[in-house]
Amino acid sequence: MKKKKVESLCFWCGSEMGFAEREEEEGKITPERAIVSYFPCRACGDKFKGGITLFEAQETPFYEDQPSVGNGVDLFPSGRWITLPQDTTLQGAFGGKATEEIRIAGMGFISPVAFSALCENSSGGRPTNH
Ligand SMILES: [Zn+2]
Repeated sequence: MKKKKVESLCFWCGSEMGFAEREEEEGKITPERAIVSYFPCRACGDKFKGGITLFEAQETPFYEDQPSVGNGVDLFPSGRWITLPQDTTLQGAFGGKATEEIRIAGMGFISPVAFSALCENSSGGRPTNH
């Protein structure tokens, strides 16, 4: 397999994150710029750490060939996310167990329905749509 250098882009904001190597697939044109993973760039990573960050995700891909988030989680993020203040009460939007897991991790994935509801109810959050 031939390797090709690809300018990797941040999935969350589209900014350039430097080069990554990608195996060139036979018969396919490897793009010069691509989203290589869901790993955030430094700017997004800092924003995500500013509170409890929830990512909108669903069980089916948003576009062809979209990879799942991985680590055994079959979810596909839309790219929309919201960071809530650390002391936000998440109860109500989720079950108790999920709430606790999200609080410990500081981030989590939620369904598009829950995400929309959260954006409407939240006053302190900063929803983005990149
Ligand atoms: Zn970014």
